[in-house]
Amino acid sequence: MSQQQASLQLDWDVIIIGAGAAGLMCAATAGYQGLSVLVIDHAPKAAAKIRISGGGKCNFTNLDVSAKNYICRNPHFVKSALSRYPSNAFIELVERHGLAYEQRELGKLFCSERASDLIQILRTECDWAQVEFSLKTSVDKLRYVDERYQLQTSGGKFNANKLVIATGALSFPKLKATGFGYEIAKQFGLKVLPTRPGLVPLNFKGKWLERIAELSGLSLDVAVSAGGMRFQEAMLFTHQGLSGPGILQASNYWTEGEPIEIHLMPQVSVLDELKRLRKQAGNLNKWLSSFWPKRFVQFWQQLHPAPEDIANASDEVLEAYARQICEWRLYPAETGGYGKAEVTLGGVDTDEVSSKTFEAKKQPGLYFIGEVLDVTGWLGGYNFQFAWASAVACGLAL
Ligand SMILES: Cc1cc2nc3c(=O)[nH]c(=O)nc-3n(C[C@H](O)[C@H](O)[C@H](O)COP(=O)(O)OP(=O)(O)OC[C@H]3O[C@@H](n4cnc5c(N)ncnc54)[C@H](O)[C@@H]3O)c2cc1C
Repeated sequence: MSQQQASLQLDWDVIIIGAGAAGLMCAATAGYQGLSVLVIDHAPKAAAKIRISGGGKCNFTNLDVSAKNYICRNPHFVKSALSRYPSNAFIELVERHGLAYEQRELGKLFCSERASDLIQILRTECDWAQVEFSLKTSVDKLRYVDERYQLQTSGGKFNANKLVIATGALSFPKLKATGFGYEIAKQFGLKVLPTRPGLVPLNFKGKWLERIAELSGLSLDVAVSAGGMRFQEAMLFTHQGLSGPGILQASNYWTEGEPIEIHLMPQVSVLDELKRLRKQAGNLNKWLSSFWPKRFVQFWQQLHPAPEDIANASDEVLEAYARQICEWRLYPAETGGYGKAEVTLGGVDTDEVSSKTFEAKKQPGLYFIGEVLDVTGWLGGYNFQFAWASAVACGLAL
Protein backbone atom coordinates (compact mmCIF):
# COMPACT_ATOMS: atom_id res chain seq x y z
CA MET A 1 0.00 0.00 0.00
CA SER A 2 1.80 3.11 -1.20
CA GLN A 3 1.59 6.20 0.97
CA GLN A 4 4.19 8.29 -0.87
CA GLN A 5 2.20 11.34 -1.74
CA ALA A 6 5.10 12.97 -3.60
CA SER A 7 4.77 10.38 -6.34
CA LEU A 8 1.00 10.62 -6.67
CA GLN A 9 -0.30 11.82 -10.00
CA LEU A 10 -2.80 14.67 -10.38
CA ASP A 11 -5.48 12.95 -12.48
CA TRP A 12 -7.39 9.78 -11.57
CA ASP A 13 -10.25 7.78 -12.97
CA VAL A 14 -11.65 7.36 -9.48
CA ILE A 15 -11.02 8.94 -6.11
CA ILE A 16 -12.50 7.30 -3.05
CA ILE A 17 -12.70 9.29 0.18
CA GLY A 18 -12.59 6.92 3.16
CA ALA A 19 -10.29 3.91 3.57
CA GLY A 20 -12.72 1.92 5.72
CA ALA A 21 -14.54 -1.31 4.94
CA ALA A 22 -16.55 0.05 2.00
CA GLY A 23 -13.76 2.26 0.61
CA LEU A 24 -11.16 -0.54 0.48
CA MET A 25 -13.56 -3.03 -1.08
CA CYS A 26 -14.70 -0.54 -3.70
CA ALA A 27 -11.11 0.48 -4.47
CA ALA A 28 -10.03 -3.10 -5.17
CA THR A 29 -13.12 -3.78 -7.29
CA ALA A 30 -12.56 -0.64 -9.38
CA GLY A 31 -8.81 -1.21 -9.64
CA TYR A 32 -9.33 -4.72 -11.02
CA GLN A 33 -11.27 -3.13 -13.87
CA GLY A 34 -8.17 -1.27 -14.97
CA LEU A 35 -9.20 2.07 -13.49
CA SER A 36 -6.65 4.26 -11.76
CA VAL A 37 -7.85 4.58 -8.15
CA LEU A 38 -6.73 6.84 -5.33
CA VAL A 39 -8.06 6.35 -1.78
CA ILE A 40 -7.85 9.35 0.54
CA ASP A 41 -8.33 9.13 4.30
CA HIS A 42 -7.54 11.59 7.07
CA ALA A 43 -6.68 8.82 9.52
CA PRO A 44 -3.10 7.57 9.82
CA LYS A 45 -4.17 3.96 9.19
CA ALA A 46 -6.83 2.36 7.03
CA ALA A 47 -9.85 0.52 8.43
CA ALA A 48 -9.65 1.52 12.10
CA LYS A 49 -13.19 0.24 12.74
CA ILE A 50 -12.49 -3.19 11.29
CA ARG A 51 -9.51 -3.46 13.65
CA ILE A 52 -11.60 -2.97 16.82
CA SER A 53 -14.85 -4.51 15.59
CA GLY A 54 -16.33 -7.66 17.07
CA GLY A 55 -14.15 -7.37 20.17
CA GLY A 56 -11.02 -7.36 17.97
CA LYS A 57 -12.16 -10.36 15.90
CA CYS A 58 -14.50 -8.59 13.44
CA ASN A 59 -17.91 -10.14 12.88
CA PHE A 60 -17.40 -9.68 9.15
CA THR A 61 -20.65 -11.17 7.83
CA ASN A 62 -23.61 -13.39 8.64
CA LEU A 63 -24.81 -16.61 7.04
CA ASP A 64 -28.39 -15.35 6.89
CA VAL A 65 -28.63 -11.85 5.42
CA SER A 66 -31.72 -10.24 3.97
CA ALA A 67 -33.41 -6.84 3.78
CA LYS A 68 -35.24 -7.55 7.05
CA ASN A 69 -31.92 -7.16 8.89
CA TYR A 70 -31.65 -3.50 7.88
CA ILE A 71 -33.27 -0.24 8.87
CA CYS A 72 -33.67 2.16 5.97
CA ARG A 73 -36.46 4.55 5.03
CA ASN A 74 -36.77 2.58 1.78
CA PRO A 75 -36.91 -1.06 2.95
CA HIS A 76 -36.23 -2.37 -0.59
CA PHE A 77 -33.10 -0.31 -1.20
CA VAL A 78 -30.56 -2.89 0.04
CA LYS A 79 -32.02 -5.84 -1.88
CA SER A 80 -30.23 -5.41 -5.18
CA ALA A 81 -26.71 -5.05 -3.78
CA LEU A 82 -27.17 -7.81 -1.19
CA SER A 83 -28.44 -10.25 -3.79
CA ARG A 84 -25.61 -9.49 -6.20
CA TYR A 85 -22.94 -9.76 -3.50
CA PRO A 86 -24.27 -12.13 -0.81
CA SER A 87 -22.32 -13.19 2.27
CA ASN A 88 -21.14 -16.31 0.38
CA ALA A 89 -19.21 -14.11 -2.02
CA PHE A 90 -17.31 -12.46 0.81
CA ILE A 91 -16.73 -15.82 2.51
CA GLU A 92 -15.27 -17.10 -0.78
CA LEU A 93 -12.93 -14.09 -0.88
CA VAL A 94 -11.58 -14.59 2.64
CA GLU A 95 -11.25 -18.35 2.11
CA ARG A 96 -9.16 -17.69 -1.00
CA HIS A 97 -6.80 -15.75 1.25
CA GLY A 98 -6.77 -18.56 3.82
CA LEU A 99 -8.44 -16.57 6.61
CA ALA A 100 -9.19 -18.69 9.67
CA TYR A 101 -12.72 -17.88 10.80
CA GLU A 102 -15.36 -19.27 13.11
CA GLN A 103 -19.13 -19.39 13.22
CA ARG A 104 -20.88 -18.24 16.36
CA GLU A 105 -24.55 -18.05 17.40
CA LEU A 106 -27.16 -16.75 14.96
CA GLY A 107 -24.95 -17.25 11.91
CA LYS A 108 -22.31 -14.69 12.87
CA LEU A 109 -18.85 -15.20 11.32
CA PHE A 110 -15.74 -13.89 13.09
CA CYS A 111 -12.01 -14.03 12.41
CA SER A 112 -10.53 -16.83 14.53
CA GLU A 113 -7.40 -14.87 15.35
CA ARG A 114 -7.62 -11.12 14.87
CA ALA A 115 -9.49 -8.56 12.81
CA SER A 116 -6.24 -7.24 11.36
CA ASP A 117 -6.00 -10.47 9.32
CA LEU A 118 -9.05 -9.25 7.43
CA ILE A 119 -7.55 -5.79 6.93
CA GLN A 120 -4.48 -7.48 5.49
CA ILE A 121 -6.69 -9.30 2.97
CA LEU A 122 -8.29 -6.04 1.85
CA ARG A 123 -4.89 -4.33 1.62
CA THR A 124 -3.54 -7.21 -0.45
CA GLU A 125 -6.53 -6.99 -2.78
CA CYS A 126 -5.92 -3.26 -3.15
CA ASP A 127 -2.22 -3.86 -3.86
CA TRP A 128 -3.04 -6.45 -6.52
CA ALA A 129 -5.51 -3.99 -8.05
CA GLN A 130 -2.82 -1.26 -8.02
CA VAL A 131 -4.78 1.09 -5.82
CA GLU A 132 -2.86 4.08 -4.47
CA PHE A 133 -3.37 5.62 -1.03
CA SER A 134 -3.04 9.02 0.49
CA LEU A 135 -3.56 8.59 4.23
CA LYS A 136 -3.35 11.36 6.84
CA THR A 137 -4.88 13.55 4.17
CA SER A 138 -7.81 15.88 4.71
CA VAL A 139 -9.99 17.20 1.93
CA ASP A 140 -10.20 20.99 2.23
CA LYS A 141 -12.25 21.81 -0.83
CA LEU A 142 -14.24 19.92 -3.43
CA ARG A 143 -15.50 21.33 -6.72
CA TYR A 144 -17.22 19.88 -9.78
CA VAL A 145 -15.85 21.61 -12.87
CA ASP A 146 -16.16 20.48 -16.51
CA GLU A 147 -17.57 17.11 -15.47
CA ARG A 148 -14.60 16.39 -13.23
CA TYR A 149 -14.13 16.47 -9.47
CA GLN A 150 -11.34 18.74 -8.24
CA LEU A 151 -10.08 18.10 -4.73
CA GLN A 152 -7.89 20.41 -2.76
CA THR A 153 -6.35 18.35 0.04
CA SER A 154 -3.64 18.65 2.67
CA GLY A 155 -1.62 16.38 0.34
CA GLY A 156 -2.07 18.52 -2.78
CA LYS A 157 -4.56 18.81 -5.62
CA PHE A 158 -6.21 15.80 -7.25
CA ASN A 159 -8.76 15.46 -10.04
CA ALA A 160 -11.07 12.54 -10.77
CA ASN A 161 -13.76 11.58 -13.26
CA LYS A 162 -15.66 9.76 -10.53
CA LEU A 163 -15.80 10.41 -6.80
CA VAL A 164 -16.89 7.81 -4.23
CA ILE A 165 -17.83 8.92 -0.73
CA ALA A 166 -17.10 6.10 1.75
CA THR A 167 -16.52 8.21 4.83
CA GLY A 168 -18.84 6.25 7.11
CA ALA A 169 -20.87 7.95 9.80
CA LEU A 170 -20.69 9.62 13.20
CA SER A 171 -20.19 6.69 15.56
CA PHE A 172 -16.90 6.38 17.42
CA PRO A 173 -15.45 9.86 16.77
CA LYS A 174 -12.27 8.76 18.57
CA LEU A 175 -11.58 6.62 15.49
CA LYS A 176 -11.83 9.73 13.29
CA ALA A 177 -15.47 9.22 12.35
CA THR A 178 -17.00 12.40 10.91
CA GLY A 179 -20.10 13.66 9.18
CA PHE A 180 -18.02 14.74 6.17
CA GLY A 181 -20.04 12.57 3.79
CA TYR A 182 -23.23 14.37 4.82
CA GLU A 183 -21.61 17.74 4.07
CA ILE A 184 -20.65 16.58 0.60
CA ALA A 185 -24.16 15.28 -0.01
CA LYS A 186 -25.58 18.65 1.03
CA GLN A 187 -23.03 20.51 -1.11
CA PHE A 188 -24.53 18.75 -4.14
CA GLY A 189 -28.12 19.28 -3.03
CA LEU A 190 -28.82 15.74 -1.81
CA LYS A 191 -31.10 15.14 1.14
CA VAL A 192 -29.62 13.86 4.40
CA LEU A 193 -32.01 12.26 6.89
CA PRO A 194 -31.63 13.07 10.60
CA THR A 195 -29.09 10.86 12.36
CA ARG A 196 -29.00 9.21 15.79
CA PRO A 197 -26.75 6.67 17.53
CA GLY A 198 -27.55 2.98 16.88
CA LEU A 199 -26.42 -0.34 18.35
CA VAL A 200 -25.76 1.61 21.50
CA PRO A 201 -26.08 0.97 25.26
CA LEU A 202 -29.10 2.50 27.01
CA ASN A 203 -28.42 4.69 30.04
CA PHE A 204 -30.58 5.28 33.09
CA LYS A 205 -30.80 8.06 35.66
CA GLY A 206 -31.86 8.47 39.29
CA LYS A 207 -33.39 5.60 41.25
CA TRP A 208 -33.26 3.13 38.38
CA LEU A 209 -29.60 3.86 37.69
CA GLU A 210 -28.80 3.14 41.35
CA ARG A 211 -30.66 -0.17 41.20
CA ILE A 212 -29.17 -1.27 37.88
CA ALA A 213 -25.63 -0.18 38.72
CA GLU A 214 -25.69 -2.50 41.73
CA LEU A 215 -26.06 -5.39 39.29
CA SER A 216 -23.17 -4.18 37.13
CA GLY A 217 -21.32 -7.03 35.44
CA LEU A 218 -24.28 -9.45 35.47
CA SER A 219 -25.49 -10.89 32.17
CA LEU A 220 -28.89 -12.53 31.52
CA ASP A 221 -30.33 -14.35 28.51
CA VAL A 222 -33.42 -12.32 27.77
CA ALA A 223 -35.66 -11.07 24.98
CA VAL A 224 -35.76 -7.28 24.63
CA SER A 225 -38.56 -5.51 22.77
CA ALA A 226 -38.64 -1.91 21.56
CA GLY A 227 -40.56 -0.15 18.82
CA GLY A 228 -42.37 -3.36 17.85
CA MET A 229 -39.21 -5.46 17.40
CA ARG A 230 -38.03 -8.27 19.69
CA PHE A 231 -34.50 -9.64 20.05
CA GLN A 232 -33.61 -12.72 22.08
CA GLU A 233 -29.99 -12.19 23.06
CA ALA A 234 -27.93 -11.47 26.18
CA MET A 235 -28.36 -8.33 28.27
CA LEU A 236 -25.59 -6.87 30.42
CA PHE A 237 -25.99 -4.61 33.48
CA THR A 238 -23.43 -1.78 33.53
CA HIS A 239 -22.59 1.22 35.73
CA GLN A 240 -24.54 3.47 33.33
CA GLY A 241 -27.49 1.19 32.56
CA LEU A 242 -27.98 -1.71 30.14
CA SER A 243 -25.87 -3.08 27.32
CA GLY A 244 -25.12 -6.44 25.65
CA PRO A 245 -26.33 -7.66 22.25
CA GLY A 246 -30.06 -7.76 23.12
CA ILE A 247 -30.04 -4.14 24.27
CA LEU A 248 -27.86 -2.92 21.36
CA GLN A 249 -30.28 -4.52 18.89
CA ALA A 250 -33.32 -3.01 20.62
CA SER A 251 -31.62 0.42 20.77
CA ASN A 252 -32.03 0.75 16.99
CA TYR A 253 -35.80 0.72 17.49
CA TRP A 254 -36.05 2.62 20.78
CA THR A 255 -37.17 6.25 20.92
CA GLU A 256 -36.64 8.55 23.87
CA GLY A 257 -39.57 8.58 26.30
CA GLU A 258 -40.68 5.07 25.28
CA PRO A 259 -40.12 1.95 27.40
CA ILE A 260 -38.21 -1.18 26.55
CA GLU A 261 -39.82 -4.45 27.56
CA ILE A 262 -37.70 -7.31 28.83
CA HIS A 263 -38.74 -10.95 28.97
CA LEU A 264 -36.51 -12.35 31.67
CA MET A 265 -37.07 -16.05 30.83
CA PRO A 266 -37.70 -16.27 27.08
CA GLN A 267 -36.61 -19.93 27.06
CA VAL A 268 -39.73 -21.18 28.86
CA SER A 269 -43.45 -20.63 29.27
CA VAL A 270 -43.28 -18.91 32.64
CA LEU A 271 -46.96 -19.36 33.57
CA ASP A 272 -46.85 -23.10 32.79
CA GLU A 273 -43.72 -23.42 34.90
CA LEU A 274 -45.34 -21.56 37.81
CA LYS A 275 -48.41 -23.80 37.61
CA ARG A 276 -46.15 -26.84 37.64
CA LEU A 277 -44.40 -25.47 40.74
CA ARG A 278 -47.79 -24.94 42.41
CA LYS A 279 -48.80 -28.52 41.72
CA GLN A 280 -45.52 -29.85 43.10
CA ALA A 281 -45.43 -27.29 45.96
CA GLY A 282 -41.96 -26.48 44.64
CA ASN A 283 -39.40 -23.99 45.86
CA LEU A 284 -39.78 -20.71 43.94
CA ASN A 285 -36.42 -19.34 45.01
CA LYS A 286 -34.67 -22.46 43.77
CA TRP A 287 -36.61 -22.25 40.51
CA LEU A 288 -35.60 -18.59 39.93
CA SER A 289 -31.99 -19.51 40.72
CA SER A 290 -32.03 -22.11 37.94
CA PHE A 291 -32.44 -19.24 35.44
CA TRP A 292 -30.70 -16.25 37.01
CA PRO A 293 -27.53 -15.52 38.98
CA LYS A 294 -28.03 -15.28 42.75
CA ARG A 295 -27.52 -11.50 42.78
CA PHE A 296 -30.34 -10.99 40.32
CA VAL A 297 -32.67 -13.36 42.19
CA GLN A 298 -32.16 -11.27 45.36
CA PHE A 299 -32.75 -8.05 43.39
CA TRP A 300 -35.91 -9.43 41.81
CA GLN A 301 -37.31 -10.76 45.08
CA GLN A 302 -36.98 -7.27 46.56
CA LEU A 303 -38.55 -5.62 43.51
CA HIS A 304 -41.41 -8.10 43.12
CA PRO A 305 -41.86 -10.25 46.24
CA ALA A 306 -42.93 -13.75 45.21
CA PRO A 307 -46.29 -15.25 46.16
CA GLU A 308 -45.80 -16.38 49.74
CA ASP A 309 -47.46 -19.77 49.52
CA ILE A 310 -47.04 -21.01 45.97
CA ALA A 311 -48.89 -24.26 46.64
CA ASN A 312 -52.08 -22.30 47.34
CA ALA A 313 -51.59 -19.35 44.99
CA SER A 314 -54.56 -18.49 42.74
CA ASP A 315 -54.33 -18.38 38.93
CA GLU A 316 -54.57 -14.57 39.12
CA VAL A 317 -51.60 -14.35 41.47
CA LEU A 318 -49.51 -16.64 39.26
CA GLU A 319 -50.53 -14.74 36.12
CA ALA A 320 -49.56 -11.42 37.68
CA TYR A 321 -46.20 -12.83 38.80
CA ALA A 322 -45.56 -14.33 35.34
CA ARG A 323 -46.36 -10.98 33.71
CA GLN A 324 -43.76 -9.26 35.88
CA ILE A 325 -41.14 -11.71 34.63
CA CYS A 326 -42.23 -11.66 30.99
CA GLU A 327 -42.97 -7.95 30.63
CA TRP A 328 -40.44 -6.06 32.73
CA ARG A 329 -40.84 -2.49 31.52
CA LEU A 330 -38.01 -0.03 31.91
CA TYR A 331 -37.67 3.57 30.76
CA PRO A 332 -34.10 4.36 29.66
CA ALA A 333 -33.15 8.03 30.02
CA GLU A 334 -30.96 8.24 26.94
CA THR A 335 -28.54 6.32 24.72
CA GLY A 336 -24.80 6.19 25.33
CA GLY A 337 -24.38 8.63 22.39
CA TYR A 338 -22.15 8.44 19.32
CA GLY A 339 -19.11 7.80 21.54
CA LYS A 340 -20.52 4.37 22.47
CA ALA A 341 -22.61 3.62 19.37
CA GLU A 342 -21.45 0.99 16.87
CA VAL A 343 -23.44 2.58 14.06
CA THR A 344 -25.39 5.67 13.03
CA LEU A 345 -29.03 5.54 12.00
CA GLY A 346 -30.09 7.93 9.24
CA GLY A 347 -27.72 9.58 6.77
CA VAL A 348 -27.76 10.24 3.04
CA ASP A 349 -31.31 9.54 1.83
CA THR A 350 -31.32 6.40 -0.29
CA ASP A 351 -33.92 8.00 -2.59
CA GLU A 352 -31.07 10.18 -3.79
CA VAL A 353 -28.88 7.29 -5.06
CA SER A 354 -29.31 4.34 -7.40
CA SER A 355 -29.64 1.03 -5.55
CA LYS A 356 -27.82 -0.65 -8.46
CA THR A 357 -24.78 1.63 -8.88
CA PHE A 358 -24.91 3.88 -5.78
CA GLU A 359 -24.48 6.92 -8.02
CA ALA A 360 -26.30 10.08 -6.98
CA LYS A 361 -29.33 10.53 -9.22
CA LYS A 362 -28.86 14.31 -9.40
CA GLN A 363 -25.07 14.42 -9.62
CA PRO A 364 -23.25 12.37 -12.27
CA GLY A 365 -20.04 10.66 -11.17
CA LEU A 366 -20.71 11.05 -7.44
CA TYR A 367 -21.28 7.84 -5.44
CA PHE A 368 -22.15 7.06 -1.79
CA ILE A 369 -21.48 3.64 -0.24
CA GLY A 370 -21.44 2.03 3.21
CA GLU A 371 -22.62 3.59 6.43
CA VAL A 372 -22.79 7.18 5.16
CA LEU A 373 -26.10 6.11 3.61
CA ASP A 374 -29.36 5.80 5.52
CA VAL A 375 -28.81 2.04 5.91
CA THR A 376 -28.25 0.49 9.32
CA GLY A 377 -27.86 -3.22 9.92
CA TRP A 378 -28.62 -5.28 13.00
CA LEU A 379 -25.80 -6.48 15.19
CA GLY A 380 -24.35 -9.67 13.71
CA GLY A 381 -22.10 -8.79 10.76
CA TYR A 382 -24.86 -7.09 8.77
CA ASN A 383 -23.21 -3.67 8.70
CA PHE A 384 -20.00 -5.00 7.20
CA GLN A 385 -21.98 -7.10 4.73
CA PHE A 386 -23.73 -3.97 3.46
CA ALA A 387 -20.36 -2.18 3.27
CA TRP A 388 -18.95 -5.03 1.10
CA ALA A 389 -22.08 -5.35 -1.06
CA SER A 390 -22.57 -1.63 -1.72
CA ALA A 391 -18.84 -1.27 -2.42
CA VAL A 392 -18.78 -4.06 -4.99
CA ALA A 393 -21.95 -2.86 -6.73
CA CYS A 394 -20.46 0.62 -6.96
CA GLY A 395 -16.97 -0.57 -7.93
CA LEU A 396 -18.36 -2.58 -10.84
CA ALA A 397 -20.40 0.40 -12.04
CA LEU A 398 -17.52 2.90 -12.04
C1 LIG B 1 -16.86 -0.62 18.19
C2 LIG B 1 -17.49 -1.05 16.89
C3 LIG B 1 -17.63 -2.40 16.62
C4 LIG B 1 -18.26 -2.81 15.44
N1 LIG B 1 -18.35 -4.15 15.19
C5 LIG B 1 -18.96 -4.56 14.05
C6 LIG B 1 -19.00 -5.95 13.71
O1 LIG B 1 -18.42 -6.80 14.40
N2 LIG B 1 -19.69 -6.31 12.59
C7 LIG B 1 -20.29 -5.38 11.76
O2 LIG B 1 -20.89 -5.77 10.75
N3 LIG B 1 -20.19 -4.06 12.02
C8 LIG B 1 -19.53 -3.63 13.12
N4 LIG B 1 -19.41 -2.29 13.38
C9 LIG B 1 -19.95 -1.34 12.38
C10 LIG B 1 -18.96 -1.23 11.20
O3 LIG B 1 -17.67 -0.96 11.71
C11 LIG B 1 -19.37 -0.11 10.25
O4 LIG B 1 -20.71 -0.25 9.88
C12 LIG B 1 -18.49 -0.15 9.00
O5 LIG B 1 -17.15 0.06 9.36
C13 LIG B 1 -18.93 0.91 8.00
O6 LIG B 1 -18.02 0.90 6.93
P1 LIG B 1 -17.73 2.22 6.10
O7 LIG B 1 -16.63 1.88 5.19
O8 LIG B 1 -18.98 2.78 5.57
O9 LIG B 1 -17.20 3.27 7.18
P2 LIG B 1 -15.90 3.19 8.08
O10 LIG B 1 -15.41 1.81 8.19
O11 LIG B 1 -16.22 3.94 9.32
O12 LIG B 1 -14.80 4.00 7.24
C14 LIG B 1 -14.90 5.36 7.02
C15 LIG B 1 -13.52 5.90 6.74
O13 LIG B 1 -13.64 7.27 6.34
C16 LIG B 1 -12.64 8.04 6.96
N5 LIG B 1 -13.11 9.42 7.07
C17 LIG B 1 -14.13 9.89 7.82
N6 LIG B 1 -14.22 11.22 7.66
C18 LIG B 1 -13.25 11.60 6.80
C19 LIG B 1 -12.83 12.85 6.27
N7 LIG B 1 -13.43 13.99 6.62
N8 LIG B 1 -11.78 12.86 5.41
C20 LIG B 1 -11.14 11.71 5.08
N9 LIG B 1 -11.48 10.50 5.56
C21 LIG B 1 -12.53 10.45 6.41
C22 LIG B 1 -12.44 7.37 8.31
O14 LIG B 1 -11.17 7.67 8.83
C23 LIG B 1 -12.60 5.90 7.96
O15 LIG B 1 -11.38 5.31 7.63
C24 LIG B 1 -18.76 -1.85 14.52
C25 LIG B 1 -18.56 -0.50 14.79
C26 LIG B 1 -17.94 -0.08 15.95
C27 LIG B 1 -17.75 1.39 16.20
